Amino acid sequence: MRTAIIGAGIAGIATAIRLASEHHEVTVFEANDYPGGKLSEFEQNGYRFDAGPSLFTMPTYVEELFQVAGEDMSPHFQYERLPLVCRYQWNDDLVLYGWADPLAFASEIEAKLSVPAQKVLNFLKKCQNKYETTGHIFLNKSLHKVSTWLNMPVVKAMLKIPQMDIFTTMNAVHERELGHPKLVQLFNRFATYNGSNPYQAPGILTIIPHFEHGIGAFYPKGGMYQITKSLWTLAQRKGVDFRFGQKVESILTQEGRVVGIKVNGEDKAYDQVVSNMDVYHTYKKLLPQAKHPEKTLNQPRSTSALIFYWGIRHSFPDLHLHNIFFSDDYRAEFDALAAGTINDDPTVYVNISSKCDASDAPSGCENWFVMVNVPPNDGTQDWDALIDRTRKNILKKLTERLGLPIETLIDGESILDPRTIESRTSSYQGALYGTSSNNQMAAFLRHPNFSNRLENLYFCGGSAHPGGGIPLCLLSAKIVHDLIKST
Ligand code: FAD
Repeated sequence: MRTAIIGAGIAGIATAIRLASEHHEVTVFEANDYPGGKLSEFEQNGYRFDAGPSLFTMPTYVEELFQVAGEDMSPHFQYERLPLVCRYQWNDDLVLYGWADPLAFASEIEAKLSVPAQKVLNFLKKCQNKYETTGHIFLNKSLHKVSTWLNMPVVKAMLKIPQMDIFTTMNAVHERELGHPKLVQLFNRFATYNGSNPYQAPGILTIIPHFEHGIGAFYPKGGMYQITKSLWTLAQRKGVDFRFGQKVESILTQEGRVVGIKVNGEDKAYDQVVSNMDVYHTYKKLLPQAKHPEKTLNQPRSTSALIFYWGIRHSFPDLHLHNIFFSDDYRAEFDALAAGTINDDPTVYVNISSKCDASDAPSGCENWFVMVNVPPNDGTQDWDALIDRTRKNILKKLTERLGLPIETLIDGESILDPRTIESRTSSYQGALYGTSSNNQMAAFLRHPNFSNRLENLYFCGGSAHPGGGIPLCLLSAKIVHDLIKST
């Protein structure tokens, strides 16, 4: 079988590995001259930066790809489990450590916020139960195939639906289970892991903390880009042909079937096509003549991000790999995002990979990836003005919290915003995670991993089922592989 994959994002690469491992002839067409899409890296003044993702969860999905390919992973990709997941700091200078170990985390919360440790442990257990009850239905298979629903474990899971908090919000669950406003804010932040709003997203998403405080957060040796690099080179060893700098112009169809793609003005025949390009643009740009699933395409997008990549000519021993500086009013932040703008007291995330890999920054310096959540680019925002204002707000906050004039320490700056995210990866409106998960039906309204109108067309990546983020993108590749295998 000859398969064309449009896009060398992480899901495109993973799909290529799975198919090539079963002797498909796979060609990946990538518009950029590098692999990885959002999961890429760059150098600036002697500092190395991971451009996009910074948090690595569910490494077993990477491991599985080496297993499928029949290779030992360890010579190519290594990772460590983080004992400390995140350092949290509020404007009143309370600092709380998010230990990976649930007991240590719960004890820290009891010591700092006087919330009984057992209450936190009970909540984390409920997160785990929800994940174990629903994960296999919502994440591992296509939701759009009857076979997914016709088996005993699914029927049993359905009976537990009333305990899954589907019809309430994440924030309401956190207020009910945890109570303390700072703790509610801390757990509400997990909604941002798929670009959602905790005051709207369904309570079932309280499964997300289980990924960090149950299964664990990890760091790949050499940085996040090693995920892309190791899988890209694995794909090449399996015979996948990568064509960089080749932007697919259209998907060719004949009588309800996909028969190939057009690149550089040339028609190329393929038995099947997998799009790792954002679903929205796949239809609008590559299939303008086809009937579009408008309801799916018009779902609201997830949040985007504004990132400042700063070389910092100083070392901050109190900071760790993942650091959060919270705002005073979390709801106001999400209200601002919903209104298409950025609050003046945003929660700021600072990722410093040189804490794990000293070679990522010159001696005595640190590579800061400073990010705030921002709305997707709906075409109405004045981004230059918003970026300028937010940069000042971030600098003010970090200067006050860390007690040093941060701006004077900056040794080179690059900026990524929703416009550049869209232009570099073709993600509609620069959304990080495809469509948002702000309603109970979101999982069902996300585009399936196959086209039900055009035979031989499949979809993987953050804008298709099961959603954005590295683990779910890798799962989308597995689902596409299973669908192709079953046809
Ligand atoms: P993408 O990365 O979206 O890549 C798609 C590829 O397709 C691109 O390379 C693009 O050039 C190519 N393409 C598009 N159109 C064409 C065409 N016509 N022809 C050829 N090629 C085409 N996830 C986490 O798990 N943890 C995190 O901490 C995290 N943080 C993030 C922070 C940021 C700033 C960003 C941007 C994302 C973050 N994410 C995180 C989300 C994660 O990066 C994405 O969900 C995931 O990488 C998306 O992968 P993908 O396979 O959908 O492809």
